[in-house]
Amino acid sequence: MKLGIVIPCYNEEEGLRETTNRLKALLDEMIEEGEIDQESFVCYIDDGSKDDTWQLIETFTKESSLFKGIKLSRNFGHQNALIAGLMQLKDSADALVSMDADLQDDIMLVKGFVEKYKEGYDVVYGVRKDRSKDTKFKRGTAELFYKFQNFMGIETVPNHADYRLLSRKALNALAQFKEINLFLRGIVPLLGFRSCSLYYTRAERFAGETKYPFKKMLFFALDGIASFSVMPLRLITIVGFLLFVVSLLGIAWVVFEKLFFGNTVQGWASTMISIYFIGGIQVMSLGIIGEYVGRNFQQGKERPRYIIDKEI
Ligand code: UDP
Ligand code: MG
Repeated sequence: MKLGIVIPCYNEEEGLRETTNRLKALLDEMIEEGEIDQESFVCYIDDGSKDDTWQLIETFTKESSLFKGIKLSRNFGHQNALIAGLMQLKDSADALVSMDADLQDDIMLVKGFVEKYKEGYDVVYGVRKDRSKDTKFKRGTAELFYKFQNFMGIETVPNHADYRLLSRKALNALAQFKEINLFLRGIVPLLGFRSCSLYYTRAERFAGETKYPFKKMLFFALDGIASFSVMPLRLITIVGFLLFVVSLLGIAWVVFEKLFFGNTVQGWASTMISIYFIGGIQVMSLGIIGEYVGRNFQQGKERPRYIIDKEI
């Protein structure tokens, strides 16, 4: 079987040499053992890096025929770089494994992926058994995010990032998803097919720093929810309805006060509170609706998700 490994890279010059050495050793070993074909490869997707990442990739392709490179015309973001690689290479391998450039994901799992593929699985998820090497903040926010997603009715594999194997069949199915705000973790389970999970311990980044600062993480999470669930819109409707019922009671109360008790100067506090309360809810609701309208706007333009500059 011909295996391809797809790795998006954004400013990864510090660690890429080590990644390349380790992957080369792994592929050589697997080829030797006859687990994968000789034409198997690793393809780096340079996502508009500002450092020497692309120059390094060029060097690797000259040193060994195992390595390929695709250079995007600018930074399109992790998910788009990944889809660029998967879509460009889906016809040149039997299955593709996606992983990060920083080797936080145990590369030995690739052997397991290939075994599962041979057993007939089309989707194999790499799942983190233990996140103790991630920062407390990252772990906490991730956990919260998985819980919230679940609550919103989105089905994902918990503690699975983008380390997975997809067969050519699964990749062809994935090619039919034309979404702009791409969240692969949510889409892959929608593909169906036979799937399973393999577990590994996540290591620390061995060089460079995370390319997911808090803001990117937050927007990523937002994509992961708003691209898959209309639950927030439904919640607005429910909250709006409840407020409507409460305000009917309030109106009745005000009328009674006025007609039978005459205490109308009172009530300043409740007036102020409701102004703030309703105002806040309205603005929040507009924001949530805006999220969906914005997505429609982006999708309507049908812009390409990525643009390729060079392939080597
Ligand atoms: N990445 C990318 N484009 C971006 C940001 C990140 O291609 O705009 C790549 C990055 O080089 C790495 C992978 O996506 O290979 C995951 O990023 P990172 O390891 O920084 O994320 P973390 O593991 O901290 O969540
Ligand atoms: Mg990482």
